[in-house]
Amino acid sequence: MNTFILSGKYKDYFFDPPPVTIDSCGQFVRESIIPQSAKSISSLVFNYHTVTRPYVSKRTSHTHQYHEFLAFYSLNLNNPQDFQAEIVLYMGKEQEKYLITKPTLVSFPPGFLHCPMEITRVNKPFFLVSIEVPVT
Ligand SMILES: [Zn+2]
Repeated sequence: MNTFILSGKYKDYFFDPPPVTIDSCGQFVRESIIPQSAKSISSLVFNYHTVTRPYVSKRTSHTHQYHEFLAFYSLNLNNPQDFQAEIVLYMGKEQEKYLITKPTLVSFPPGFLHCPMEITRVNKPFFLVSIEVPVT
């Protein structure tokens, strides 16, 4: 683990990032970008995955007490619109089917039924971000 060599009155504002793991689908995952050591400051959860191949999410249809966002973004920093993947996402109690084929941010208000999600095609790896915003 890297250790910051910092001193000064704002040194407590810096944190080492939590570890990156590889999930059962072989994707790199950072369970939360906010380390446990900073949880006392904020209960915001920010997860990200680097998606390299198709898979079906293990999450079945569900709701949360908090607001959740899912972001599907290109990893091509020279062309953020270069998104070459396909995601099927089911929304609402009707399980309405949505097809994502471009960079997209999806919002799930508290109590909204969403998922499952199927990543059906990955021609180029992309960035999948999940942000959980506590309701105050
Ligand atoms: Zn969710």
